Amino acid sequence: MLARRQCVFVMADGRACRAGPQLERPYCFAHDPERASEAAEARRMGGLRRRKEGTIAVAFDLPGLDSADGIRRVLDIVVADGLGLENGVARLRILIAAATAATGLLKVGELEDRMTLLEAALKQRSAADEPLALG
Ligand SMILES: [Zn+2]
Repeated sequence: MLARRQCVFVMADGRACRAGPQLERPYCFAHDPERASEAAEARRMGGLRRRKEGTIAVAFDLPGLDSADGIRRVLDIVVADGLGLENGVARLRILIAAATAATGLLKVGELEDRMTLLEAALKQRSAADEPLALG
């Protein structure tokens, strides 16, 4: 097996950069002294991008994709925008994809509800001093 090439840059804390170097250069893009201005511009654009994402998230009332509510909100936006498109294959595909994703979300929500009921039932049982036969 070939040894994986690694950027030769050493960070302020003495650790080596673990990124892969560019082709025919010992440094990764971020640490290449010959590309410092490009890397700075890329970082600036990254900052702008994150700020823009924050603004859009507020404007669209997006809580993020790490909760069912967040995913539901994205699907609402997709469906609303999709319905506003001219009818055609693209519009129908968007609506079908949203329906498929929503179905998955409903299944997960149903499982969560059942888990909550099960946990509550188990808690009641152990409160009633009946030993649980788990494990
Ligand atoms: Zn590097």
